[in-house]
Amino acid sequence: MISHHETPARRTGLERLNEFAPLMGTHYGHRRNIDPGENARPNVSQLSPFLRHRLISEEEVASAALTVHGSEQATKFIQEICWRTYFKGWLEHHPSVWSDYISDRDAQFTSLEKDKGLRADYEAAIEGRAGIEGFDHWAKELTETGYLHNHARMSFASIWLFTLKLPWSLGADFFLRHLLDGDPASNTLSWRWVAGLHTLGKTYLAKKEAIETCSDGRFAPGNLAQSARQVPGPDNPQPQQLPPRDILPDESFALLLTEDDLSVETWLNEHLDIEAIAGLHSAETRCAADVSEKAVSFTKGALKDGLARAGSHFGIEAQNLSDDSDRQSALKDWANSLETRHIVVPYIPAGWTRDTLSPVLSGLQADGFHIHQIRRDWDECFWPHARKGFFKLRKQIPSVLDTLDIAEGLKLDG
Ligand SMILES: Cc1cc2nc3c(=O)[nH]c(=O)nc-3n(C[C@H](O)[C@H](O)[C@H](O)COP(=O)(O)OP(=O)(O)OC[C@H]3O[C@@H](n4cnc5c(N)ncnc54)[C@H](O)[C@@H]3O)c2cc1C
Repeated sequence: MISHHETPARRTGLERLNEFAPLMGTHYGHRRNIDPGENARPNVSQLSPFLRHRLISEEEVASAALTVHGSEQATKFIQEICWRTYFKGWLEHHPSVWSDYISDRDAQFTSLEKDKGLRADYEAAIEGRAGIEGFDHWAKELTETGYLHNHARMSFASIWLFTLKLPWSLGADFFLRHLLDGDPASNTLSWRWVAGLHTLGKTYLAKKEAIETCSDGRFAPGNLAQSARQVPGPDNPQPQQLPPRDILPDESFALLLTEDDLSVETWLNEHLDIEAIAGLHSAETRCAADVSEKAVSFTKGALKDGLARAGSHFGIEAQNLSDDSDRQSALKDWANSLETRHIVVPYIPAGWTRDTLSPVLSGLQADGFHIHQIRRDWDECFWPHARKGFFKLRKQIPSVLDTLDIAEGLKLDG
């Protein structure tokens, strides 16, 4: 594991942010696609597990890049951060893409039980025995470290789909089992993007030369597919409206944290009238098979850290409901022990946390609780531009950063 990934805490994320900030400008712009390997990875930030759980925020990272490098040189880095924002916003507009993925994944696991050939190919792929240079290495690197460079992820997914002809949803599930940054939106939609399902007809076909360049000469697989097959999958649905913006209640409330946002003290005022704080994670539900210990323990540690900081910010001891063997009942019991009927939750985007918690939260609503899911200003400003392609959101980056008061007069449309 990369050393800073061993401590899932905001402090560690901020330390890594400070360490990488000097490289977020032209160095990142020119070198970000080059992956010299897990023991020498100076070109990318490796901040994704921290951003995924919002131990640090997109806004903080974008601000650091702008402060150190100015708008022109920080362009590429900020655009990459915005890919994360785009995917999250896009999935909010198309939530059925997540539920379709879950159905397809489950159907593919059933096929694995019946089809011995498919099972053997699948197992060889995830165990790094496919006989393809690079690919086999990345399967092991992912399993051992919980992280892969973006170019390795793209090449791995492409080889999985077009050379090995395996179902994309099994590959996406394999990633979620191990990635410390495993994210319902970035992962599902990146797999769909490589497959040609996100931008219809536009596939990503991995080529030997590109792999050789991007792996810094470490791999040059000679046995890759020369063309991209059409991957089966439904067309993108029409975008739905985002749920309307919710606001904080003007009376006492309880605060519930999930693994999706673990630095509330950076955006919720310490003088708010908060009766109680609790949190829980659903890391074990993120994929069909057993989630890797590393991935679960990163999320567990992140929640513990987020709760401790929220507790000291608001001066209340925060309760970790994940320790209970029946978390859903623990959540109901916690809610029923409150005097207030208002529960505030940082917005839970489409994904496994929403799938796990929605039934309980709906039950509480039926019992008279008001559940307020509050979106950060960053999401509120960017997500409306994530209905279609990334280009539309990218054009809005300067004006949104201006609205958020992150950068004055920024010109970031290149
Ligand atoms: C098949 C596939 C699956 C992926 N699954 C995930 C996932 O589960 N979780 C996840 O966070 N990212 C995922 N990504 C996106 C990307 O590979 C990672 O965010 C990035 O490699 C993280 O490394 P880094 O922090 O060093 O990135 P840097 O290059 O340092 O970028 C800084 C931050 O910008 C964001 N970012 C950069 N590139 C992308 C991108 N292409 N898409 C979305 N966000 C981006 C990330 O939050 C990242 O931490 C996936 C990409 C592919 C091709």
